[in-house]
Amino acid sequence: MTVSKFVVWFRNDFRFDDNPALYHALREAEKADGELIFIFHLHPDFSSHIDLSSDYFFQTVETFARQCKEKEMKLHVLSGSVQKAFQLLFDKAGSVHTVFCAEEHTSFAVSRDEEARRIIVDNGACLVRTPGNYVHQPHEIMKNDGSPYKVYTPYSRRWMQAEKPDIHSAVSEDIRARYARLKALDEASEREWKEVLKRCTRTWQLLGEEAGRNRLEYFCQKVLPHYHKSRDLPEKAGTSRLSPYLRTGALSARRVYKAADSTRENHSSKGPEAFIKEIAWRDFYTMILHHFPEVETKEFQEKYRGLPWREDEDLFQKWKDGRTGFPIVDAGMRQLNEVGWMHNRLRMITASFLTKDYQMDWRKGEAYFREKLIDHDPASNIGGWQWASSVGTDAAPYFRVFSPVRQGIRFDPEGAFVKKYVPELKNTDKKYIHEPHKMNDQEQKEAECIIGKDYPAPSVDHKEERKRAIHMFKETDDS
Ligand SMILES: Cc1cc2nc3c(=O)[nH]c(=O)nc-3n(C[C@H](O)[C@H](O)[C@H](O)COP(=O)(O)OP(=O)(O)OC[C@H]3O[C@@H](n4cnc5c(N)ncnc54)[C@H](O)[C@@H]3O)c2cc1C
Repeated sequence: MTVSKFVVWFRNDFRFDDNPALYHALREAEKADGELIFIFHLHPDFSSHIDLSSDYFFQTVETFARQCKEKEMKLHVLSGSVQKAFQLLFDKAGSVHTVFCAEEHTSFAVSRDEEARRIIVDNGACLVRTPGNYVHQPHEIMKNDGSPYKVYTPYSRRWMQAEKPDIHSAVSEDIRARYARLKALDEASEREWKEVLKRCTRTWQLLGEEAGRNRLEYFCQKVLPHYHKSRDLPEKAGTSRLSPYLRTGALSARRVYKAADSTRENHSSKGPEAFIKEIAWRDFYTMILHHFPEVETKEFQEKYRGLPWREDEDLFQKWKDGRTGFPIVDAGMRQLNEVGWMHNRLRMITASFLTKDYQMDWRKGEAYFREKLIDHDPASNIGGWQWASSVGTDAAPYFRVFSPVRQGIRFDPEGAFVKKYVPELKNTDKKYIHEPHKMNDQEQKEAECIIGKDYPAPSVDHKEERKRAIHMFKETDDS
């Protein structure tokens, strides 16, 4: 008798803890006296070019594959088009009954899943989509009339009141007992995977589920009580830095919520409350992407579709390289280029700078962040960019343009963060750290930083560009 196979298709959920796809696959396998198989589909669109974001992602997948191996299970890799990969599954795994995966919301994921579903159904099996890695799924928090929210504050009120989902964790022993002992489903795919891994050359300190859980524990004990005070200062390690684990699904969002919520009793509730609001932002932006998929490429606010953004590759390159001549912007961009992560305050400052001071299309910045961020999340990235460029939901009003100098003085008053990422300014006096071009010749010599040689002069005049940006929006508003 052939044993039915219950397949877990891992995509952005590389964990055992609170993994609904895994949990439900196991339950069904137990009921049918079947076996489990884990697969990862190596899609050619994602492996052709490796940058920081994909390097981190693939190394997380490999960490998970090792975790499976330690538990005497195998994460099977299937490469090629969706058609090819799933045909391989059916040809090699034998009687597949159901494929389980977590629901995803980008247009790419929706059409890929639809294609996979057709192949799965044609082969006599079914595809079951289980809740994604969110506290609340996009259809759970709706207005009374059943329509989606368009503004965060009323959404978050309902989000806070809603009963939170349970954590579903399967016991490792039960999973292992059901795991199908098969050799690699496809040797060629496994070889291709090894080749991809060879091209992932970065050294990441802490990857995967165990590191994520440790980070969560540390954060809740040491940082969360002060989160509301420290979260805006890039120099302090005042945020959770859990975003890469949430993005790869090494950590469950519901687990993060529960851990933060349970600390409310022990500490002043301000830290946990401020943090939980951020977790709700993540769900909010996913809900927006799900219900308004056009935001992937278009401004949420229709009136701002077709703004006359500036084209200037030279300026864009300066922004990407962190050589704009505005130290806080440059420090943020260099942090991104070096470590693949950027503090939220700096994401707001650098995004505002590109779209207001340079009046460049938010889509260009969004695409650059997509390549570099190890926590790249399409919904939050698009939401953040549209917010900063005043074209999205809850967007910052266009006439409130961040001054990069004032932002620097306010959020990096000692210039410690700037000095860390812009070493040319390491000897610059605090008085000039956010406006080094104001040093006279003697001061530049003493600081060993000649403006225009060691560090660039400001690439634009902020006051002028502010006026120009406001004018660009106002013209569109008035027309
Ligand atoms: C232009 C721009 C682009 C962004 N791109 C991304 C992205 O690609 N991926 C991403 O996860 N976040 C993005 N954010 C949101 C935010 O900057 C990061 O989530 C945060 O910096 C991650 O660091 P942390 O885990 O220490 O955050 P914490 O402050 O500890 O917050 C905890 C968690 O809440 C969520 N969160 C926090 N702030 C936001 C927010 N504003 N919007 C949505 N979720 C939030 C994240 O999951 C984060 O891990 C972007 C923000 C801006 C302004």
